[in-house]
Amino acid sequence: MKNPSFIYLLFGLFCLACNAPKVEEKAGTTFPTGNWIDLTHSFDENTIFWPTAESFHLDTVFEGTAAGGYYYSAFQFCLAEHGGTHLDAPIHFSEGKWSVEQIPVDRGIGEAVVIDVSENALKDSDYQISVADVTNWEAINGQIPTDGLVLFKTGYGQYWPDRVKYMGTAERGQDAVAKLHFPGIHPDLATWFTKNRKIKAVGLDTPSIDYGQSTLFESHQILYEQNILGFENLANLNKLPTKGSWVIALPMKIKGGSGGPLRIVALVND
Ligand SMILES: [Zn+2]
Repeated sequence: MKNPSFIYLLFGLFCLACNAPKVEEKAGTTFPTGNWIDLTHSFDENTIFWPTAESFHLDTVFEGTAAGGYYYSAFQFCLAEHGGTHLDAPIHFSEGKWSVEQIPVDRGIGEAVVIDVSENALKDSDYQISVADVTNWEAINGQIPTDGLVLFKTGYGQYWPDRVKYMGTAERGQDAVAKLHFPGIHPDLATWFTKNRKIKAVGLDTPSIDYGQSTLFESHQILYEQNILGFENLANLNKLPTKGSWVIALPMKIKGGSGGPLRIVALVND
């Protein structure tokens, strides 16, 4: 007859062995590998801003050989929050929601999907991305992941920085706003996202998440009310796969800001 306490001891050791972490499975010791894609346009004198917004200015403070004999350069810049590749913070269109510094840092980081709507959008500069565009995409690719970042490729990124092709007009000032033509997210799709999917952000390769002819900016209102972030004027979306990329989007941390310059990159899995 076996000693019962010996059996318990064996059973206990077995359980300990099961629960012990294996060295090779230790999480967090290796950074993922892959190709890094920069989704950010450089800021310079050609950077596209909203027709009523201040453009980017870079002024030289000093450039050359300093009195001590060493090379030295320093500049100062000035720009509106909403120009170039930038973040829209929820407070941009929703009172009381997050301003830039209040956004938890992980909200701009996550699994990304790229939904290509360029076939329709390139034919119609007033195209609004529909619920069907997303549900058709999901029928082929599966559901958008929870806490995913949804990037729309309209194809207009290829026109940057040609303002006429990119946004319909190169004119500046209030009268130019009515002449804007570029695709955006239909308000029905914005509502669909808030009711049917849990996402962190939307982004696209146009100047605004609402289409150029929008006057009420309803998709801004609907998404930002739910603290969903907006990324505008994205670059290089044509270099991302439909699925299998991770995005890191880190805006300049402007206290109280409604948006700001964004450095956004993607890691594409090997
Ligand atoms: Zn904006």
